[in-house]
Amino acid sequence: TPLLAVENLVVDHRSPDRPPVRAVAGVDLSVAPGEVVGLVGESGCGKSTLARAICGIIRPSGGSIGFEGRPVTPLGLRRRDPALTRIQMVFQDPFASLNPRRRVGGQIADGRRGGPPPGELLERVGLSAGMAGRYPHEFSGGQRQRIAIARALAAQPSLLIGDEPISALDASAQAQVAALMRSLTVESGAGLLFISHDLSVVRMIADRIAVMYLGKIVEIGRTAEVWADPKHPYTRALLAAIPAPDGAGTLPAELPGDVPDPVSPPSGCRFHPRCPHAMDICSEREPVQERGVACWLHDSAPE
Ligand code: SF4
Ligand code: MG
Repeated sequence: TPLLAVENLVVDHRSPDRPPVRAVAGVDLSVAPGEVVGLVGESGCGKSTLARAICGIIRPSGGSIGFEGRPVTPLGLRRRDPALTRIQMVFQDPFASLNPRRRVGGQIADGRRGGPPPGELLERVGLSAGMAGRYPHEFSGGQRQRIAIARALAAQPSLLIGDEPISALDASAQAQVAALMRSLTVESGAGLLFISHDLSVVRMIADRIAVMYLGKIVEIGRTAEVWADPKHPYTRALLAAIPAPDGAGTLPAELPGDVPDPVSPPSGCRFHPRCPHAMDICSEREPVQERGVACWLHDSAPE
């Protein structure tokens, strides 16, 4: 049984002065104990919204989220369902998530629910117990993110969600922090949903990769398979966009333009205005996900 089971999830952002935005438009996703799932896609495609719904911070408009065999009940950030402390998030900016005026040991201890003491948690994330008495500004960005991870572990989570946890770090710290999150996950038997726009890092740590575009998962599969044989044109474009080791190359010509406005998503396949392989059917009918890919190029069902 999966630790996390998201089924046909829909999340709308509503505000008084704008039309509603369907940020998550029917997503299925699971995470098993001890599994690392990488969720990739450009910014604005709904990854963070999906994560916040899983944590019970925002209320979905449809579908369901099961965690440890029971439904997630959204109660908002302040009074979360107590069971949801077993889902812990690590955010992009470790500066913003740590209190600059308090020693890190105390901040780690705050989240403790039967877990090891702060010094031991600091050691588990590759720092030393003696650092508990220091303040956040005495650490580098990568060390601060390790502290944020230690604080998350203090709650003994069974699911860890990293929302772009390495995006604000320098290149060497990125790989180290990502590898740390993977090893802690495998060691503890917890699950990890690792959100990033950087496929090259996700590739190193994820068992499965889910590719999200404009509120939908367009491709999902084992990491090695997606990497070796990406099926969806969007996945291929993301892979082609990975810069060469010399730093050359950004977005390739085959992925023109930005993610469209989710207020009025394109008809049919939402990727069709940017897709180099778009056919007539693509703007008319939405492709159904088959064997992990939602694309008419890979549809085997008879018309
Ligand atoms: Fe491109 Fe059509 Fe596939 Fe969408 S369904 S990704 S437009 S080929
Ligand atoms: Mg985001």
